[in-house]
Amino acid sequence: MTSKESREFSKFCAAVEADYVVVGTGSAGAVLANRLSAQPSVQVVALEAGPRDKDKFIHIPAGFAKLMRGAMDWDYQTEPQKELDGREIYWPRGKMLGGSSSMNAMMWVRGFAADYDEWAEHAGEQWGYANIVRYFDRIENGPLIISRQRSPRPSTAAWLTAVQECGHRIDPPDQAAPEGFCETRVNQRWGARWSTADAYLKPALKRENLTVLTEAAVTKVVFDGNRAVGVEFEHGGARHVVRARREVVLCGGAVNSPQLLMLSGIGDRDHLAEHGVDLIQHAPDVGRNLIDHLAVLLGFDVPDNTLFAAEKPIELLNYLLRRRGMLTSNLGEAYGIVKSRPDLELPDLELIFAPTPYFEEGIGDPYDRHAVVMGPILLKPRSRGTITLRSSDPRAKPIIDPRYLTDDDGADRAALMAGLRMTATIAASPALRGVIGKIARPLFADTLDDETLERGLNSLSHTLYHPVGTCRMGNDGASVVDPQLRVRGVERLRVADASVMPTIIRGHTHAPTVLIGEKAADLILS
Ligand SMILES: Cc1cc2nc3c(=O)[nH]c(=O)nc-3n(C[C@H](O)[C@H](O)[C@H](O)COP(=O)(O)OP(=O)(O)OC[C@H]3O[C@@H](n4cnc5c(N)ncnc54)[C@H](O)[C@@H]3O)c2cc1C
Repeated sequence: MTSKESREFSKFCAAVEADYVVVGTGSAGAVLANRLSAQPSVQVVALEAGPRDKDKFIHIPAGFAKLMRGAMDWDYQTEPQKELDGREIYWPRGKMLGGSSSMNAMMWVRGFAADYDEWAEHAGEQWGYANIVRYFDRIENGPLIISRQRSPRPSTAAWLTAVQECGHRIDPPDQAAPEGFCETRVNQRWGARWSTADAYLKPALKRENLTVLTEAAVTKVVFDGNRAVGVEFEHGGARHVVRARREVVLCGGAVNSPQLLMLSGIGDRDHLAEHGVDLIQHAPDVGRNLIDHLAVLLGFDVPDNTLFAAEKPIELLNYLLRRRGMLTSNLGEAYGIVKSRPDLELPDLELIFAPTPYFEEGIGDPYDRHAVVMGPILLKPRSRGTITLRSSDPRAKPIIDPRYLTDDDGADRAALMAGLRMTATIAASPALRGVIGKIARPLFADTLDDETLERGLNSLSHTLYHPVGTCRMGNDGASVVDPQLRVRGVERLRVADASVMPTIIRGHTHAPTVLIGEKAADLILS
């Protein structure tokens, strides 16, 4: 422990009891730590498994892929996906102050009003768009900063011209029903990432009634009967307990929150028995309803104008002196929302563009030429997966099986194939003539016929890093949490993070998760 950390731990030991214990400081947890501790009479302890967010690649936008597979990544891997050539899909998740908001691609995409109205069908009107849109106004004009790109690449503008040539329209982002294309708005302040740790946590750290402890991995919720009274956690090689006088709030994200519930005895009776975990509450839906956005990015060589030279000293200088240039890029510089079939009532696909060879998610061998990627993301998948325990050891990674493209009628695969055909048409449009060169991904392709696109889908698709739904909220008795986010069947325990979404939104998941943090704070304090 450094001396600062040991001071922090001493402060913590003086407060081994708090009113609220928040587990995790990511997109939602940081919001809760701030909002709850804004009440001076309330003592809050927030425990974060990862370290502080000091690494430069957290703050320099274009550097986020450098965090992958490193010490600040939970570095998960799915089970083999039979519809994707049996591949195990890499799932990064942020493990540091700010959680995944400290390693994400900074895209701020709210989703449709209809998505939140769908939540309302599951969890009541208070989650409907008319009632939650004010939270977006609060978030976007307050702690979080949503910016325009400072130095988008010219190839991004060319792509946006190309989509218009293909009959799509350009629209401002984040309307109630945003059917069109735009440059991505990003969570950045003056060209640097602006995570929830920056926006919510750091300004609150000076409060006497908030204690944030890093490198403190919670191992289970502690119960007295069926009442949550605290959590057990590991810090500095030893196990400790912090007691919660009022409530424990789990904000560990869509993988870790269901795992933590199961480790604490809340889950399917038989599954817990299999792992020798004592049952507190039979809740078979914990870990079910896993939903994720799958992306398929085709790659093309281009002559210039990409982020290929982002690591050159001149770009570093440009960034340090002016906060401009390639290093300010979030990679996914433009996107659009489209329908895979004209008869659909609402869009089901996003098409995305990145002026960089984002092959193998940036963690494969470096590509030695200029290249770009573009392709569809399945926004409304029908397939559902599961998170289950691998072991009762809290350090063991859970079993993640998203079951991508396993819906009975093949609708998910058909929608992605339609999106790939649209991508091929865009790549061949006049605005990109002279720009788009050889097909770089999938490998060994010289045309984009259906056979090649299908091979691309099976061999290239990866997560867009948006898992949700594994502790779904609902009015129904089988839901994991009720509409107030209280875990059913026990007392004084809530979940507030991406896992509570009953369905996935047609957008990106950071924005709705920050919203869940804000809403949860209101629910707790009301
Ligand atoms: C690489 C990547 C790119 C992405 N790009 C975008 C994007 O551009 N736009 C967008 O909208 N979304 C994006 N996302 C998704 C978005 O960031 C997440 O949906 C969102 O951050 C989830 O928030 P959360 O609060 O549920 O979980 P997280 O933000 O992951 O926070 C969970 C926190 O809990 C901590 N924790 C977990 N278990 C424990 C434990 N047992 N004890 C203590 N602490 C624990 C974790 O370390 C973490 O800090 C991306 C995600 C990734 C990983």
